[in-house]
Amino acid sequence: MNFLIMQTETADSTSFFDSSWWKFTTMMSKALLVAMWLALAFWTYKDAKRRITDPMMIGVAVATSLIFPYVGTLFYVILRPPEYLEDVLERDLEIRAREQELVGGANRCPACRTPVRDDYLVCPKCRRELKVACASCAKPLDPSWKVCPYCAHETSGGARRAPAKATIAEEDELFA
Ligand SMILES: [Zn+2]
Ligand SMILES: [Zn+2]
Repeated sequence: MNFLIMQTETADSTSFFDSSWWKFTTMMSKALLVAMWLALAFWTYKDAKRRITDPMMIGVAVATSLIFPYVGTLFYVILRPPEYLEDVLERDLEIRAREQELVGGANRCPACRTPVRDDYLVCPKCRRELKVACASCAKPLDPSWKVCPYCAHETSGGARRAPAKATIAEEDELFA
């Protein structure tokens, strides 16, 4: 009985592995593995191009994916730069814009050329008066303005120094 079963099993398995169905399946899985390998290499190329500027490094990444199927791509994913180039560029532009905002030619102390902001009342370096605080709302005003644009307070022919500003100046002298 046992012998019979074994016989049929071996007979079955040989015929199974010889069957055209098995040949077709193995062929298809091999084709799928190759397609997967090539797709991963292509994906590596596309991803590397978005993250790496150096064409040599992109070549190395793609070659690794091709030479070591699947594992090479995994290595690439572990070692690739974390950011996309466009994100890095965008951040750089943002930083530069902010620097320009702060160091812009128009916003410099006329006396010592220190970069100053629009709302500074005095130059933090040389103490030169840049703006005067509105007597009503304390917003920084150009000394030549006749009226405060924020609260419409009449500055009576040029904004006057607000008492609060004098206190700040005294404090500055104390800390100096
Ligand atoms: Zn200054
Ligand atoms: Zn005002």
